[in-house]
Amino acid sequence: MQEGISKIWQFLLDIIFPIKCVSCGREGEWVCTACLREIELNRELVCPRCGYASGDGSFCDQCRVTSKMAGIIVAASYEDKLLQQAVHALKYKFVREMSRPLATILSGGLKIWLNHHQGDRQDVVLVPVPLYRKRERQRGFNQTALLAQELNKMARFTVRDDVLVRIKSTPAQAKLDPIKRRKNIKGAFRLENTAILQGKTVFIIDDICTTSATLEECAKEIDKAQPREIWGLVLARGK
Ligand SMILES: [Zn+2]
Ligand SMILES: [Zn+2]
Repeated sequence: MQEGISKIWQFLLDIIFPIKCVSCGREGEWVCTACLREIELNRELVCPRCGYASGDGSFCDQCRVTSKMAGIIVAASYEDKLLQQAVHALKYKFVREMSRPLATILSGGLKIWLNHHQGDRQDVVLVPVPLYRKRERQRGFNQTALLAQELNKMARFTVRDDVLVRIKSTPAQAKLDPIKRRKNIKGAFRLENTAILQGKTVFIIDDICTTSATLEECAKEIDKAQPREIWGLVLARGK
């Protein structure tokens, strides 16, 4: 009976607020399968700083000296309009279901990485970039945690959203220049449950990375837990 009612309720909701593909308008999905296929994934992963074709997204020898991360996996291009729309819907229109198609895109990047790192699978831990608690309450969810959970349904790693806490409320990074971004985010995170990450390959999950200041700041904290390696995993690189 309960299930029957919820089905009717869903049916009514679908009439009042039909779910439509943000790109072609087809009803039933936020991004339909046909449009999802058109989002072009990066086939080759490069050094996140200079663009050298490192294959797995690792920093080249020159660029890696200043980072606590081994590399950043950038799954697709932010030039892609549909990807921009999908990220916007998730973050600013609060369409949490958008996390599933977007996680598919992340999984594409991760697959390329796995081709270069066979056997590393068991020790992978996904850590979403945390939001400040008040911001998460306003939005109703943390979009990077949703991405990590959806990704985990496809790839079965471990997701831990309890190892990194955001202790500082910071203005949105997008409005700031690169130097201000670094200052803005400094000291924003605190590590908890350090034992979980020891000896693991940690992927920090974010939606769009611009200057990578946020990822670097997270990596600085995670590094204290003595993981084997730290990587960033993002949908795209923003401007
Ligand atoms: Zn479509
Ligand atoms: Zn480089």
